[in-house]
Amino acid sequence: MLYLSTRGDPGRKHFCEILLEGLAPDGGLYLPEHYPRVDAATLARWRGVFNGGAPGGYAALAFEVLSLYIDDIPAADLRALCEKTYTEAVYGTPQIVPLKPLEDGVWLEALSNGPTLAFKDMAMQLLGNLFEYELARRGEQLNILGATSGDTGSAAEYAMRGKKGVRVFMLSPHGRMSPFQQAQMFSLMDENIHNIAIEGVFDDCQDIVKNVSNDLAFKRQHKIGTVNSINWARLLAQVVYYFAGYLQATDPTTGSGRSDRVSFTVPSGNFGNVCAGHVARQMGLPIEQLVVATNENDVLDEFFRTGVYRVRASADTHETSSPSMDISKASNFERFVFDLLGRDGVRVKALFGETLSRDGRFDLGADPAFPEAASRHGFRSGKSTHANRIETIRDVFQRHGVMIDTHTADGVKVAREFLQDGTPMIVLETALPIKFAETIVEALGRQPHRPPQFEGIEDLPKRVRLMPASTAAVQAFIAEHCASA
Ligand SMILES: *Cc1c(COP(=O)(O)O)cnc(C)c1O
Repeated sequence: MLYLSTRGDPGRKHFCEILLEGLAPDGGLYLPEHYPRVDAATLARWRGVFNGGAPGGYAALAFEVLSLYIDDIPAADLRALCEKTYTEAVYGTPQIVPLKPLEDGVWLEALSNGPTLAFKDMAMQLLGNLFEYELARRGEQLNILGATSGDTGSAAEYAMRGKKGVRVFMLSPHGRMSPFQQAQMFSLMDENIHNIAIEGVFDDCQDIVKNVSNDLAFKRQHKIGTVNSINWARLLAQVVYYFAGYLQATDPTTGSGRSDRVSFTVPSGNFGNVCAGHVARQMGLPIEQLVVATNENDVLDEFFRTGVYRVRASADTHETSSPSMDISKASNFERFVFDLLGRDGVRVKALFGETLSRDGRFDLGADPAFPEAASRHGFRSGKSTHANRIETIRDVFQRHGVMIDTHTADGVKVAREFLQDGTPMIVLETALPIKFAETIVEALGRQPHRPPQFEGIEDLPKRVRLMPASTAAVQAFIAEHCASA
């Protein structure tokens, strides 16, 4: 399988070449040349491989999916990487992504039982093992520089801790993460993990990362890389749980077993998670609807309703109680638009490279193909606000005794608007409530459940360096810690 850029560059690359890269050289995102088709016979075989989520089933399914896209890692090694990644020890359950019935026809797929209690672990844990494997093979080192306001940074650190050849330098805005999130990151004592608290806001952290990345000499000398959500390997890892969700929902013994099609609702920000659903559907997974749920930052809902894609300014980006979906633009969205426009790289380049930089928006609404094409791809969308979130958390707890987090609540709220008789609706649970305790207390008047391994985490010793919002200071810190190891 070879990979191409969404902006039409004629170059083609193998999986391991794009694994450690960010954007394609022409500014586009990488996608496979085609989506391998999974026919009914293969799906039936995969049902046996997954084996109802018996121990090792998810890892074996992951190997089946990944091996369709990765031909430059020997099969035995790839299988071993999957088995090392998706274990009961890491995810606390043999099924890895158990499906739980919520209410008539609606299921929750639990994606947040990994080490940092958010779905980003599902992909990041695999990425950590892939990075270690590939860097060892090349005899190279990588220094990952990132900025985080919460979920991504901790998922990256827990995935890369103790990995050979990798160091992580993670910037976060000083004093702005929740005490739980700070404790999660700063209590890591691993030599290769460096937490840097910046005296500033998240945008200051992101600006420093951009400045360092634009300093090409520094970047090359210190082997700076990223783990952001546009990485194809992350997206690919996420494709697996759409298959696992489908196999559970249609299981003749434990699932509804009545339908051979399912729908998914995905709490969305950067369009990474739901883009993996799109890939699964392109592969032939019988997905009826792919429902994009946004919060007040409704860039994506606006697009699917009107065809207008309008990037928001920082000042128009709302700080909400589902903060991991607070985005001004959806960085993976270009991948879907590429497929939507029949893989016309020249047109994508014009839209994302030129029109968007000039006007901050583009409009496909006038394109006669648009509404039909988006719905042919199964896409629907809806939006949820703080009031909806509180109401949904309360309702789900009172009626079902189930506590859901704020992002999952946005998903449940929107999912309920798209139910169809006889088709299971699977809502992706993207985080656990303990990460967003303040809003849970507002909704329910009580503290969220805390998994036992996180008891007392706020009292652990912390390892973090406080720094001014200065690119030079961060560069000096990186140079010093690269030299010393
Ligand atoms: C990152 C994140 C999202 C959004 O996922 P995208 O892939 O950016 O669309 C939703 N919920 C939680 C809890 C997250 O951490």
